[in-house]
Amino acid sequence: MTSYKELGLVNTKEMFAKAVKGGYAIPAFNFNTMEQMQAIVQAAVKTNSPVIMQVSKGARNYANGTILRYMAQGAVEYAKELGCKNPQIVLHLDHGDSFELCKDCIDNGFSSVMIDGSHLPYEENIALTKKVVEYAHAHDVTVEAELGVLAGVEDEVSAEHSTYTKPEEVVDFSTRTGCDSLAISIGTSHGAYKFKPEQCTRNAAGKLVPPPLAFDVLEAIEKQLPGFPIVLHGSSSVPQDEVDTINSNGGKLPDAVGIPEEQLRKASKSAVCKINIDSDSRLAMTAAVRKYFNEHPDHFDPRQYLKPARENMQKMYEHKIIEVLGSNDKL
Ligand SMILES: [Zn+2]
Repeated sequence: MTSYKELGLVNTKEMFAKAVKGGYAIPAFNFNTMEQMQAIVQAAVKTNSPVIMQVSKGARNYANGTILRYMAQGAVEYAKELGCKNPQIVLHLDHGDSFELCKDCIDNGFSSVMIDGSHLPYEENIALTKKVVEYAHAHDVTVEAELGVLAGVEDEVSAEHSTYTKPEEVVDFSTRTGCDSLAISIGTSHGAYKFKPEQCTRNAAGKLVPPPLAFDVLEAIEKQLPGFPIVLHGSSSVPQDEVDTINSNGGKLPDAVGIPEEQLRKASKSAVCKINIDSDSRLAMTAAVRKYFNEHPDHFDPRQYLKPARENMQKMYEHKIIEVLGSNDKL
């Protein structure tokens, strides 16, 4: 049994309260490699931002849960080494799918967990979420729940169609489960292909323009739950310059499309206080590595190509923090 407090981590309670009041959102970046972790910490320290480092089931399978936990502890120490006196770093389980998985994470140093019962019938989602909340709160760990279904593919999580969160359910759900934050579905989507071309229009340059988020649903939810922390999943913007770099260096990502940053900026100013970004980090890393290989076919030291990959991710994280989420200078 390792408490997250021993690792120097914090839960989301205080940072969400401040974010809701301050009209900004906390970045939640997925990680499963050392380079991603370093880039996240460097960006958070440089911008003076709190940060949520999150781990999916797929990341635990890839990197091993114990290793990731010690990487999160290392992240706190690394932030201090970089000059941050009071790092606010959360280790969060993304898309927990069972009580047992959530319990295992809580028992092993996670400061926050998501229990995703969104695919279950309403009453079963409530029962499962409530069970996780009871265990988590006994250990001072915060819980994110989900109502409504996102489309797209992310690790083992996938759905063909989305179902918007029903505003008339949110009060009943949050009251009966006791969850600390709520992930909602208002048109964001998992992965680098968030929308099919037929769901979009095309601009003059032939690039896909995705449909707008359902801000009316978000507003209706806020009206039901004033001041309650809302979470957006699947919120990568799939930067077209990274996609172009990938495609012009041997990659093949036709019509990859994400959520425009101005929509996320608007959402950050509302009750949305956590925004999940995973695909953009994958794209930034892949673009840098592909470009490097193309330009240096004779190099084979991983440090040579992972360094520009790390730098490109850090630049992207800093951009999100300052230009999209507004969580800079909030420590
Ligand atoms: Zn998600």
